[in-house]
Amino acid sequence: MNIHEYQAKELFTQYGVATPKGQAADSAAEALEAAKALGTNDLVVKAQVHAGGRGKGTFKNGFQGGVHLADSPEKAQELASQMIGQVLVTHQTGEEGKLVRKVLIAESVDIAEEYYFAILMDRATERPSIIASSEGGVDIEEVAASHPEKIFKEAVHPALGLQQFQARKLASQLGFKGAQIRAASKLFMAMYELFISCDCSMVEVNPLVLTKDGDVLALDAKFNFDDNALYRHPAIAAMRDPEEEDPREVEASKFDLNYIGLDGNIGCMVNGAGLAMSTMDIIKHSGGDPANFLDVGGGASEDQVKEAFRILCGDPKVEAILVNIFGGIMQCDVIAQGIINAAKTVDLNIPLIVRLEGTNVEQGRALLNESGLALITAEDLGDAARKAVEAVNNAA
Ligand code: GDP
Ligand code: MG
Repeated sequence: MNIHEYQAKELFTQYGVATPKGQAADSAAEALEAAKALGTNDLVVKAQVHAGGRGKGTFKNGFQGGVHLADSPEKAQELASQMIGQVLVTHQTGEEGKLVRKVLIAESVDIAEEYYFAILMDRATERPSIIASSEGGVDIEEVAASHPEKIFKEAVHPALGLQQFQARKLASQLGFKGAQIRAASKLFMAMYELFISCDCSMVEVNPLVLTKDGDVLALDAKFNFDDNALYRHPAIAAMRDPEEEDPREVEASKFDLNYIGLDGNIGCMVNGAGLAMSTMDIIKHSGGDPANFLDVGGGASEDQVKEAFRILCGDPKVEAILVNIFGGIMQCDVIAQGIINAAKTVDLNIPLIVRLEGTNVEQGRALLNESGLALITAEDLGDAARKAVEAVNNAA
């Protein structure tokens, strides 16, 4: 799960990570109030969407940039009115962009230097790992490619936690001097505490800044939480903003379905994550593109199958549906009945390719045959994928 920058600021404050004061606003009038409450004329107005690259983004109405400085509360209000309700396109949103519903009004700081700082779970070292760079405010992928020597890494022992000496080492590698080293390492320690306590899988601060007054502050924040640990953090779970998520995924999560939306046109309903991945691979291999990953799980109910099927059919991109079930724990007749029930509630006007194998396969096939549904049966996985690709190609 991700959160907005204004929510990240609340966590920063709670854990003692230095960051400029700020408040979210969802109307221009609220923006004015928020700006006045900060009691300064040095302000910054930032579009709140779950995507980076806002500063260099463009609104669909032509307004440039999702991050602007303002020199009065009235100017902040005017900027807010230009952004709220508009669609912002950045290199991370895709061309459809994201609707801005809120802006963050924050104290602006005089930046002397920008840095990059992130903590993430590194599978290679099996530890939390810190990645920092003296080149901040730009794409870290670009720095990694052009100036790998400007990127510093520090693996953290999971039982010992981030050590003072590691934090100080990073601070001096980044080029901080004297008292700044103390300020920077204090921020790194607080950030690590936050990362572990909140079960984050990633925290990225780009830029971390040194101000002209010598303060070290987190100026931007991107958080990623481990969904499986969210039950331990109800306050963080409550920060979820379903408007920012793929509506298909929001719908699927209501029925405990393991669903991930993708860009292709072949909807997939499969049981088991491994089989679901193989199905996506073989669709690709046959020249097609999956519209989703969906693992209905080992013990899916008829109702879950029905809901899953409804989500696939409701996706306007889906031009054919491929059902690939290997009944081990899952029973083929349960799947068949779920599909039949779902087909009654949706107007199924796209090809449905079905490959069933395993427990109760005969009953499952019989149910489907007697249902009168127009479906294409497949012998095996390869055959199913080929038929699905053929079906979408014929439709095109
Ligand atoms: P992003 O474009 O989505 O990554 O949004 P950021 O929050 O990183 O803002 C983009 C850029 O705007 C930063 O790299 C800074 O250079 C600038 N910026 C953001 N906040 C401030 C601020 O308070 N003061 C000043 N002077 N610049 C800021
Ligand atoms: Mg940034």
